Amino acid sequence: MASLQQARTRLWTPKHVLITRSAAEHSHAAEIVARCEAAGVTDIDFLRSDRITGLRGDDERATYARAKSTLAVVVSPPSKRKLQPIPPSADWRLDLAEGCPAHCQYCYLAGSLSGPPVTRVYADLHDILAGMDDYVGRGGVTSSTTERAHEGTTFEASCYTDPLGIEHVTGSLAAAVAHVGTHDFGGRVQLRATTKFAAVEPLLVLPHGGRTRIRVSVNADGVAARFEGGTDPVAARLTGLGRLARAGYPVGLTIAPIMPVEGWQDGYGAMLDAAAAELDGVPGLDLTVECITHRFTPGSRDVLTAWYPRTKLEMDPEQRSRKFGKYGSVKYVYQRDDMHKLRTWFDTALQERLPRARALYWT
Ligand code: SF4
Repeated sequence: MASLQQARTRLWTPKHVLITRSAAEHSHAAEIVARCEAAGVTDIDFLRSDRITGLRGDDERATYARAKSTLAVVVSPPSKRKLQPIPPSADWRLDLAEGCPAHCQYCYLAGSLSGPPVTRVYADLHDILAGMDDYVGRGGVTSSTTERAHEGTTFEASCYTDPLGIEHVTGSLAAAVAHVGTHDFGGRVQLRATTKFAAVEPLLVLPHGGRTRIRVSVNADGVAARFEGGTDPVAARLTGLGRLARAGYPVGLTIAPIMPVEGWQDGYGAMLDAAAAELDGVPGLDLTVECITHRFTPGSRDVLTAWYPRTKLEMDPEQRSRKFGKYGSVKYVYQRDDMHKLRTWFDTALQERLPRARALYWT
């Protein structure tokens, strides 16, 4: 039986911090700067305009390295303030930031964000949170379905970032959790976030009111160790999950991206056993599971192979089945037989190893 690597956690500290002129007018920018200074960042630059420059290096590698080590503090673009649906995870996407400092070789952001992969955190956090009120009671995923209506209107904060991965230099996730936990929305609301990091300490003491569900994004150790650079080990993420559950948070596992690598049953089995051990005996445990198989688009494949030219990640369109989205966009997913094998195994393994978990979706 495979076992998980020993836990070890990390806190990302940017090398460079850029604050745009408009962002500097928001109090949350001052908090971010104070956090960065406390974390030892010395290269902090207040820009004269709202244009972020200086991210490009001499070649693709240098640009990648510079962008991944930069935190830009910006005001969210007006388009972000009009929330978008985000099925099957939640009613609405609530972005606190965009970009992530980790180096996952399959990162789904590669296909959705353009330009150098800098992390942009939004200084207008208070306006973003105030904007949630208008969406309460609306939405097509949890608000309007019988099975998930009890979750209330759901807001997903990790579509375009890993909010816990940047928390110690931003404080944005804690502010959102406390806001959702204490604000009178006039209806049920749930904030959702998923993470590959383990530094949950600042969240444990917050007045979360049971209204934030934190999931850890987990994988077989072999997949995580090979493809998830700059993240915390799966064992550490699960320890964090146990601590959150004991602090009364609804929690979850986002098992993603599922890959049928050699020995996958052992690897995923060990991860599920470790999750069960961490959550054993948690009173009133509220645990969900989301399963997402690996997929890629022609665009994400191009970006990822440029970022990680030596990757061993299988992204061969010939081995995959095509799935067409809106407007003719294509995604490459596993072939029907592989998908069936994976799904059948996970259905049984989850029932056996985590019988208290509620499965939300498989994709
Ligand atoms: S942690 Fe998530 S958002 Fe960050 S690089 Fe990995 S997959 Fe991308």
